[in-house]
Amino acid sequence: MRIADVLARKGDTVVTIAPDRTVRELLALLAEHGIGAVVVSGDGATVAGIVSERDVVRRLHAAGDSVLDGAVSAIMTTEVHTCTPDDTVEGLMETMTARRFRHVPVVVDGALVGIMSIGDVVKRRLEYLQAERDQLTAYISS
Ligand code: AMP
Repeated sequence: MRIADVLARKGDTVVTIAPDRTVRELLALLAEHGIGAVVVSGDGATVAGIVSERDVVRRLHAAGDSVLDGAVSAIMTTEVHTCTPDDTVEGLMETMTARRFRHVPVVVDGALVGIMSIGDVVKRRLEYLQAERDQLTAYISS
C-alpha cells in the first residue's frame, strides 16, 4: 500500500509550529491536537525540523523547566527523515522501526503534503492483514 492511499483516507492536515515559538506553546499544541510530534516550519510548508514529546522530556530531564520558555528550535531535530506519497507503508514501517522514530512528514517538491505516524502505519497494516486473512478463509472454505 502506498502512502498516498493512506493520506487519501486520513487527510493532509499537518500541525506545524514556527521555530521561534516557545516549548510551552509546543506543549499546548501537542495537548490540543492529541498528537506526539509537530513539524517545525517557518512558512507552514517547508520542513525546518521536527519536535516530539520525547525531545521535551529529554530536555526537561537534562536542563529543568527553563526549557519551557526557550525556543522550539533549541530542542528540535533538524535532520528530518521524510517520505513521498509514492513510498510504501511497508517500507516506512521498516524505516520507523530501524531508526526509532514514530513520525515521518510526507513531502513533495519541498512542501509538506501530510504526515505519517506509527499509529497510521500499524492501523493500515492490521487492516491489510485482516483482509488477507478473510480472503484465505473464504478460499479455504469455498
Ligand atoms: P518520535 O518517536 O517520533 O517521538 O521521535 C523520537 C526522536 O526522533 C525525537 O528526537 C524526534 O525529534 C526524532 N524524530 C521524529 N521524527 C523524525 C523524523 N521523521 N526524522 C528525524 N527525526 C525524527
